[in-house]
Amino acid sequence: MKIGILALQGAVREHAQMLEALNCEVVLVKEVQHLPQLDGLILPGGESTAMRKLLERGQLLEPIRDAISNGLPVFGTCAGLILLAREVIGQESHFAVMDIVVERNSYGRQIDSFEVELPVKHIDDDVKAVFIRAPHIVEVGKDVEVLATFEGKIVLARQQHMLGCAFHPELTTDLRLLRYFVEKVVAM
Ligand code: GLN
Repeated sequence: MKIGILALQGAVREHAQMLEALNCEVVLVKEVQHLPQLDGLILPGGESTAMRKLLERGQLLEPIRDAISNGLPVFGTCAGLILLAREVIGQESHFAVMDIVVERNSYGRQIDSFEVELPVKHIDDDVKAVFIRAPHIVEVGKDVEVLATFEGKIVLARQQHMLGCAFHPELTTDLRLLRYFVEKVVAM
């Protein structure tokens, strides 16, 4: 299975290591010619405003939006979740393909980074999750399934071929959420 990782900025290498551990072929997506033939795409964590600038500079914003709209399975983590959202509170949206509203830096002021064990729907035991200046999902549309919450806030959700989480599964040793994406979202 060939999985692309948007490789403009952010936690690219960590995702690549996890995907390799799951026996996927990894494609680092830096230009539009890397998009065809992908079975799935990961939008990593990092800084969504910086990624937006690089997406525009690399003329990748429209092609990726179109690919996702046409059914390319996608997993956005942290900043990647922000890229997917239909609405980002207080600012312009990016790909705007997933029917969710997100707020940025929801946990940022109290504490910058922390790890928790989260119960996740469809996964048996708690999943390890690292939050770093994480966003959260404020509102979901009717086609969106909420898969996890933390302190009453939605932090993981799925809409058909689109999966998004507020935290970083790739910064732990817990492969299960990536495996869920590969086995249950990409291969559905
Ligand atoms: N705060 C970042 C943003 O708004 C996201 C943080 C992350 O990806 N770790 O883009």
